[in-house]
Amino acid sequence: MKNGVVIVGAGHAGVQAAASLREEGFDGPVVLIGDENELPYHKPPLSKTFIKDSEAKPQPMRGEAFYSGNAIDYRPGLWIDRIDLAGRKLELAGAASLAFDHLILATGSRPRKLPIAGIELQGVVSLRSIADARLIRDLSSNCTDVVILGGGFIGLEIAATLRAGGRNVTVVEAADRLLGRVVAPAIGSHVRQRLEATGVRILTGTTVSRLDGNDGRVSAAVTQDGERLPAQLVIVGIGVIPNVELAEAAGVTTSNGICVDAQMRTSQPQILSIGDVASYRHWFTGNDVRLESVQNATDQARLAARTIVGHGDAYSAVPWFWSDIGDMKLQMVGLTTGADNHIAVGETSENKFSIYHFIGDRLVAIESVNRPTDHMMGRKMMAAGFSPTKAAVTAGADALKADLAAYQAVPATT
Ligand code: NAP
Repeated sequence: MKNGVVIVGAGHAGVQAAASLREEGFDGPVVLIGDENELPYHKPPLSKTFIKDSEAKPQPMRGEAFYSGNAIDYRPGLWIDRIDLAGRKLELAGAASLAFDHLILATGSRPRKLPIAGIELQGVVSLRSIADARLIRDLSSNCTDVVILGGGFIGLEIAATLRAGGRNVTVVEAADRLLGRVVAPAIGSHVRQRLEATGVRILTGTTVSRLDGNDGRVSAAVTQDGERLPAQLVIVGIGVIPNVELAEAAGVTTSNGICVDAQMRTSQPQILSIGDVASYRHWFTGNDVRLESVQNATDQARLAARTIVGHGDAYSAVPWFWSDIGDMKLQMVGLTTGADNHIAVGETSENKFSIYHFIGDRLVAIESVNRPTDHMMGRKMMAAGFSPTKAAVTAGADALKADLAAYQAVPATT
């Protein structure tokens, strides 16, 4: 392995892949390429603590010593023009090239754009990078009215944060409910109620058809229904598009992402793909999915490293997600696809409840608001392949723990 592994993309997936290669004993060269001029940093704080605190600094995922101490050649601020498959090398901007034995594409995703008049005005921002977060922080500290397009995780995390900082915040969501792609309707409506109680204005079933400006700066968002919402800052959080272009141009199979098998290999065996950009047949649901979460990025990275050093395990991590929206910690484990019956526990009035989702008697997901014990038990139960009875779910954590322990104490039959 003289050229070793080149990893394109220095987000959560790329950095973990570099670390895992060393943990798995890979001793060839490892090059990690990022397009930003920063030490790779944690993304979750960007929509929460970072934008409200003018002193907040990026939180590096690993310190500089990690890269030098593990012989990981981190190259920031680099753009890849093309993959030369036959020559097994990357063509970099400026005529340089970089050879590889294995290539890991961890190219992530980028915010979807909205093709409306005024989108190019100053003060219209999407959040993906630390530079975007700095811009939102600076602009929001000097404005009164914020309009947020999209009622997904990004939009609502930012809405709660900026409202707590005293801004007038309006969220405009195209669907008829919030968080429609990610959680059950009951959770979406609870989040809506609590955000509205803090003074966030929420419009659903509509969108913004035009942005107006003064001297090149945004001044208002005009909804489809003709309502003019004053705005000195407009944040667009309407989902993401996977960065498949490098792979596609090289003839690697893509379909809503870079298609990978259970070992993270693409249609070109020396190229692997992980994280937001990777599309795969989920072991749990049987559907093709692309999961946009830190857990998925890091678990796939660990597996890709194992594939490269010669292990044959298949991806089988239990998916989980979280989001902090104001005083609500949302935690989701599993996938609700196909769920046909549900049990709710806890009290919405206390802002603490969970919904257990089943297909028949099989537990497939738990969505929780401020009930971390349910979430953690869910992760343990699902990793063990254990589905609790509905009586145990209703009885609570002690009953679930006892039933899981009893299940695990019985030797598996073959
Ligand atoms: P998202 O979860 O896909 O939500 C986007 C929302 O915008 C959807 O509800 C969508 O509705 C709506 N929308 C689409 N077009 C619209 C329009 N023209 N006007 C108004 N609303 C529109 O994506 P996101 O919130 O932008 O997040 C982006 C990425 O960051 C995702 O990968 C997300 O997982 C990640 N992220 C994760 C976390 C976390 O895990 N805590 C936090 C922040 C960000 P339709 O469904 O009807 O299209």
